[in-house]
Amino acid sequence: MPEQHNQTPRSYICANCGGGIRYDISKQQLVCSSCGTPAPFQLNTTPPTEHPYVEQAISASRNVPQAETMEITCQNCGAQVMFSEHQTATSCPMCGSAHVAAAKQAEGLPPDGIIPFKVDQYQAQEAFRKWVRSRWFAPNSLKKSYQEGRLTPVYLPYWTFDAQAQANYQGRGGRVRRVRRGKQSYTTIDWYPVSGTVRESFDDIQICASANAQRKLAAQIQPFGTSHGCLPYDVAYLAGAQAEHYAIDLDEGYIRAQGQMEATLNSAATNQILSRGFQQAHITRLNPSYTHVTYKHVLLPVWLAAFTQGGKSWHYAINGETGKVSGQRPYSAVKIGAVVALIVLLCLLLILLFGENSYAAALADFTTNEFSILSAISPIHQTGGTANGIFWTGPLHG
Ligand SMILES: [Zn+2]
Ligand SMILES: [Zn+2]
Repeated sequence: MPEQHNQTPRSYICANCGGGIRYDISKQQLVCSSCGTPAPFQLNTTPPTEHPYVEQAISASRNVPQAETMEITCQNCGAQVMFSEHQTATSCPMCGSAHVAAAKQAEGLPPDGIIPFKVDQYQAQEAFRKWVRSRWFAPNSLKKSYQEGRLTPVYLPYWTFDAQAQANYQGRGGRVRRVRRGKQSYTTIDWYPVSGTVRESFDDIQICASANAQRKLAAQIQPFGTSHGCLPYDVAYLAGAQAEHYAIDLDEGYIRAQGQMEATLNSAATNQILSRGFQQAHITRLNPSYTHVTYKHVLLPVWLAAFTQGGKSWHYAINGETGKVSGQRPYSAVKIGAVVALIVLLCLLLILLFGENSYAAALADFTTNEFSILSAISPIHQTGGTANGIFWTGPLHG
């Protein structure tokens, strides 16, 4: 089975100049990072095959040593980071921490496929720059941070699942009826028992198997083109980038995929009831079953950026295939303060100009506007960052 061991070891050193071989994103191939000479070996380009999902087969193949792959565990964020045995890793690409456990050979289900980076460092920086510039209230130091080249290329682990799904359901369909009693008229809903069967076929449900912090960011830069853009995994892609080992195993990934499929079946059942002339639908029982379930384990390209301000770090992710950006964002207290002060001044000016009556109307107007700004800002958690002028809200969509 371990065919890699029968091959002559590939050299990751350039025969021309002795430089290191890296994956060149603009050329989409392995070349010497110093002189650009292509690597003396070719990468396979046939799309990876999917495996039938059978729990027994999976537990048997668990904890396989992965050829030519080393791994460190970050003692700060807990991420397990894989890299090619031909390079060394001394810091965690997820959080930047240098507190990492000694490298050991990576174990687990090896990746089947990979989407190599298509967005290079320059394009990622441009995407990030545009994203930051379009954000109001971002502190200037954030705007500077994209110039400092702190973007790190990382492959995040994903499970993809295909399945044929079917569900028998029971529920109620409601018809709205207008009732007249004397001079009054009101509406009532008549409920009828309904049942049926819905079928859906799923192709490449993408489940991010990354550790917690990355998963939220990754959800916002999906989708990736896993059904057409995947190449067979080769450890050579990790020359010049690192990969996170999955933190969510295959079985847990499948449970999450089932959750997504069930939600889709549930809305299909709801639509089926509505299509039968009901105005309301309510599902009381749904029995999903899944057949032809297949999976693959893929590594997907993401540029990660971390930025520290006020003792807190902020994380950003850029889809390495499409350039889509997501991230948490700090707010500049100075900028928010300036806007609030400006609004107060305007209010005072209006009072002076138009007297108290029109002030009431103007205030009503301003309050509505202000509420939308404030609700975009709140909730403001004052987690020690305030002294440095940073407020934090939840991650915004990019
Ligand atoms: Zn060279
Ligand atoms: Zn870390």
